Amino acid sequence: MQIQVVTESVNQAVIFAAKELRRYLERMLSEHGGQALITLSPRAERDTELCESFAVDLTPEGGSITGSGPRAVLLGVYDCLHNLGCRFLGPSARMERVPCIEPAGLTARYEKHADFAHRGVCIEGADSLDNILAFIDWLPKVGYNTFFSQFKTPYAFLKRWYNHENNSLSESELYSEDDAQRDMERIVCEIKRRGLILHCAGHGWTGEVLGFDALSWDAQDAPLPEKKRDLAAELGGVRGLFRGVPANTNLCLSNSEAREDFVRRVVDYAARQPDVDFLHVWLADEYNNVCECARCRETTPSDQYVELLNEIDLRLTRLGLDTRIVFLLYQELLWPPRSSRLNNPDRFVLMFAPISRSFEGSYELDASARPLPEYVRNRITLPRDISENMTFLRAWQTVFDGEGFAYDYHLGRAHYGDFGYVHISRVISRDIKKLRAMGLSGCISCQELRVCLPNALPNYVMGHTLFDAEADAERLIDEYFSAAYGKDWQKVKDYLTELSVLDCCDYVNGAGERENHDAACRAAEVRRLCGDFAAKNGREADDVFWSLLDYHRQYILRLARAIELLARGERNRAAGAWREMRDFICENEPEYQPYLDVYRVLEVTEKFTGFPVNEKQTKSMDGFPANAGQDTNERK
Ligand SMILES: [Zn+2]
Repeated sequence: MQIQVVTESVNQAVIFAAKELRRYLERMLSEHGGQALITLSPRAERDTELCESFAVDLTPEGGSITGSGPRAVLLGVYDCLHNLGCRFLGPSARMERVPCIEPAGLTARYEKHADFAHRGVCIEGADSLDNILAFIDWLPKVGYNTFFSQFKTPYAFLKRWYNHENNSLSESELYSEDDAQRDMERIVCEIKRRGLILHCAGHGWTGEVLGFDALSWDAQDAPLPEKKRDLAAELGGVRGLFRGVPANTNLCLSNSEAREDFVRRVVDYAARQPDVDFLHVWLADEYNNVCECARCRETTPSDQYVELLNEIDLRLTRLGLDTRIVFLLYQELLWPPRSSRLNNPDRFVLMFAPISRSFEGSYELDASARPLPEYVRNRITLPRDISENMTFLRAWQTVFDGEGFAYDYHLGRAHYGDFGYVHISRVISRDIKKLRAMGLSGCISCQELRVCLPNALPNYVMGHTLFDAEADAERLIDEYFSAAYGKDWQKVKDYLTELSVLDCCDYVNGAGERENHDAACRAAEVRRLCGDFAAKNGREADDVFWSLLDYHRQYILRLARAIELLARGERNRAAGAWREMRDFICENEPEYQPYLDVYRVLEVTEKFTGFPVNEKQTKSMDGFPANAGQDTNERK
């Protein structure tokens, strides 16, 4: 069948949408004659609505897809293809299912609108440029509208991959900040080609004020320049780099030169980068290291932060710039300001980052009864449970009634402890359904991009549910499994669901004592289930999902053995089992690179779970391994 897709729009996202629609429909209708003419029409040439809407009106002869803006048209095209039976099951063409259909099947007439404004993913882990581009391509296919490339360029994440950090079997490749600048241009180009919303920066501003590039959490060999010393936070009577890391060092925000330099850098960047829709302005990525000088002690870090943001807003307004600024509720900034208030709330978006939450359960909404703990300078502990986190959000919402979204970590660490990905997918669905009651308009997931082992169900459920908060998790899960695994899908679902029931999300994340009878029993049962499944089911080697399932089983057998030994207190054997798991995934990374972030799972199991076991790490402190508080990668 001949498919003609036309548009009067010159917007690149609409032109891209037209190419995509034609490409898929020609493939789906290749066995049929005749022709269809489809018109794509954005109601505006620019997406002003973050909650996009679109209308699909098609017959076998053609019809139209209309959207509130260019991005809405692209979302409408992918939704229409989904409606016709296409399944976009992961960030790769190999993970797509594209059916052959009859022309009569084209008939459809419906409208949809997005329930949440902020539906995105933020880069973490170790990523090649191809990993990033594949993920960006996948985002609108499952309903997302946003990509957040942290720092000014994603140098930190690209460098980890090209240097093959944590995988000594791969030879390190050179990767420079200039390479990252070049790759960033390509990334922005692909984001804008799809009309997606770009978020940038975050940490790093404080380090720049102190004279460093601060494109990562790397420690610097160079000392703090003497002429910058007064700008740094005073800690225990000394001003310097915090553990040598500029991005983790706070400023003396009573120092007018430090404030002025900070504000100027943010405003200059916003002026030079019109492609950035949301600019993140955060302080250092560590806590209990804010300035202790006499003038800073007269106020709170949150009051100083709000004053800084007001100054940035004033300058942006003078320049006629409408860049939105994202501010962060995290660490000491979880405590709301005592007297300062944001003067222009429409400029700002609140970002709630409950980094220390548990992932065994979902958000709790009945947090009103809890009092806010008192703020004590450089003596804070992070809220551990979810209702405590909610208390801070509620307190901020009494002083800021503007827009906000959650920034959460389901797929940042905890997912390595969910061996079937069904549990974490259900938690994601339940959390998203509670966002509105929390006064939040969406979620950006701070996560590894290579989260496809055994499959990419969690991000699939997340994208579809952020677009349609009514989407039923169980229906999405069944849709995913039936498309991924074919006729035997129910068996696979049962198996992965059983593995998920045995999840050790909080244990892997470092919470609780390392010697843990329950975790040991769960891990032993995981190994038994993996063995049973292999005995009963052969591998359908040609298919990516069955191949991943087989690889996943071999990986989980090794990981579960290491966890079981650690939880039994057999520390030497646990260390050996962990090294065996490490060698296995390092050896196989060339084949399974897009699906498992070897760098990150090894980092998490070392820094948080506590492998390989040594004396220092076995003594648990506040429920976390002794080294967890020193993790310079603990961040939003
Ligand atoms: Zn100070």
